[in-house]
Amino acid sequence: MAQRVSASDGGNKKTSRVRVAVRLRPYMLKQDEKDEGPCVRGLNSQNLEIINWRNATETVKYHFDVFHDMQTTQQEVFLSSVKPILPHILQGQNASVFAYGPTGAGKTHTMLGSPDQPGVIPRAVREVFNLVKAKNEDEGWKYSIGMSYLEIYNEKVLDLLSPNSQDLPIREDKDKNILIPGLTHTTISSFSDFDKHFVPATLNRTTASTKLNQRSSRSHAILLIKVVRTQSAAPRRQQTGKLYLVDLAGSEDNRRTGNQGIRLKESGAINLSLFTLSKVVDSLNSGTAIRVPYRDSKLTRLLQDSLGGSAHSVMITNIAPEFKYYFDTFSALNFAAKSKLIVNKPFTRETVAVPVLPVKRAREEHEAGGSGT
Ligand code: ADP
Ligand code: MG
Repeated sequence: MAQRVSASDGGNKKTSRVRVAVRLRPYMLKQDEKDEGPCVRGLNSQNLEIINWRNATETVKYHFDVFHDMQTTQQEVFLSSVKPILPHILQGQNASVFAYGPTGAGKTHTMLGSPDQPGVIPRAVREVFNLVKAKNEDEGWKYSIGMSYLEIYNEKVLDLLSPNSQDLPIREDKDKNILIPGLTHTTISSFSDFDKHFVPATLNRTTASTKLNQRSSRSHAILLIKVVRTQSAAPRRQQTGKLYLVDLAGSEDNRRTGNQGIRLKESGAINLSLFTLSKVVDSLNSGTAIRVPYRDSKLTRLLQDSLGGSAHSVMITNIAPEFKYYFDTFSALNFAAKSKLIVNKPFTRETVAVPVLPVKRAREEHEAGGSGT
């Protein structure tokens, strides 16, 4: 029986919760030097299980809004997690889609994909153009689409459409819209127009990453698609809808991988943004009256008007099945499950001898005892 009800079931809450999807990427033999096989597996479209690190004969089960198994296609991820929120952007509402998870688990594959298997970003941008095209002029609105592309690296906000840009400030206007004065904003008239700006900026970022200690796994890449609609006749009302598509920094615990010096400093900054994101998602989804700590990091400050509140938000947690990702997978799942509030289902562990143990307590145990391993 459910012990707690998720925030969305409460109905008239002011803040909307973040939908949480988990995507398990295919097992890759080359990632599994010891040939141990996968340590995570899907159970159905909402549940998965992972081997219990304390006792390999047991598993811990998790429940999410959506679980995408290894075979899930890019199209299926897009259709179930992203497409439904896009019409809101044309009506002056905000939305955000994040890919969360350890480096190597499939965040960039999910968001960007490849030419054969395009991800969420190209599909969402195409769909926004299609939605605008399908709008009937009779409804009396004219639409314009624009883009910005930025990176948060070491708590600095950098414009990816304007190489050599300096750290940009994040501001809030009197209507509580978040904006970045000085950030390049380019009007785009078609998908190919989008690609023309986006591809070189992405390539720049990837090239820099190999020189700079895998910078791409340490920074948050944030694409903003803005749809402005203006009434054709007086009073010519104007509405702006924003869509943030975010490839987050790797969630791996950098303390465990032994980074030092500059990289440790980077990890600290990344941990601040990701840690704050987890607190924000947690307070949004717990439905309690605790303060939502948007201002504690650049990432959450930037996303403040597009995450929670009246915004539509989806977090796709990417995980990998091989044992070498085990602890990072475990902590990513705990982050995702926490945001799902699934503690309401007291999942039992597999063996009969062990009494009912809520996942939350298993998590606390893991956190308390896990650091020395
Ligand atoms: P991340 O961005 O989280 O570090 P990547 O997206 O770069 O991870 O994925 C790591 C590797 O796994 C890449 O070679 C990528 O193409 C591959 N990969 C990730 N997810 C999938 C998937 N669902 N299907 C096939 N290959 C995948
Ligand atoms: Mg990546």
